Amino acid sequence: MKGPAIFAAALGVAALAGTAFVEHAIYGSTLSFSFDEADFETSDDLGPEPEIDPYAGWTRPEGPIRIALQAGHWKAAEAPDELERLRANGASAAGVSEWQVNLGIAEETKKLLEAEGFDVEILPTTIPPDYWADVFVSIHADGNKDTAVTGYKAASPRRDRTGRAAELARLLEQEYEKATGLPYEPNVTRNMRGYYAFNWRRYEHALHPMTTAAILETGFLTNPSDRRIIVHDKKKAARGVAAGILEYLKLHGPELD
Ligand SMILES: [Zn+2]
Repeated sequence: MKGPAIFAAALGVAALAGTAFVEHAIYGSTLSFSFDEADFETSDDLGPEPEIDPYAGWTRPEGPIRIALQAGHWKAAEAPDELERLRANGASAAGVSEWQVNLGIAEETKKLLEAEGFDVEILPTTIPPDYWADVFVSIHADGNKDTAVTGYKAASPRRDRTGRAAELARLLEQEYEKATGLPYEPNVTRNMRGYYAFNWRRYEHALHPMTTAAILETGFLTNPSDRRIIVHDKKKAARGVAAGILEYLKLHGPELD
């Protein structure tokens, strides 16, 4: 096969694996990335609705507010067998892996929230079984073969037992845009809303159903202006994430319930 045919065949194989690779010359070096979609649950099989709601009488554990930030794809190689497919995915571009970007933003966000007096835990790919927090935000970065595609977006779980996750996602978007000036990118896929950590019916390593959760795509690693924020000015990105969480807690801090 000649060049284009080989390229098309390679793309076909990559697409079968749920991943697409593209090469591009940027900053004089090779850019290659994989789409992020493969880390999301793609099945509708969330399990049956229980006949009796086991959380009807649930009350929040006593103690200080707990905030969890997940650095998407961090320590992905350690994912448990039930999430084996997560072990080798995540975007990379311009010499940066997505998990590094996600972890950098998570660490800066943690500092900001701790300065406000909150307890913050950073989680890797593997969620401890039945993990509970007042607020959980999974931090990710996007990729697209079209390097002009730009922007952020957030999503809440398709099935949200807390009734508050959509509001958390909305406040994250509002504050993230204010802090970063990045545009909203409206392509929220059903795979985002079915993120594995949200799927406590299916996976042992998932959030407790009463954890209010959202996932944030902070920008496109494949876009130069997005990289100026999420790679080179991660404090700015973190200010947006922290402000979204703080706005949410103003409305739904435990004392205000
Ligand atoms: Zn990701």
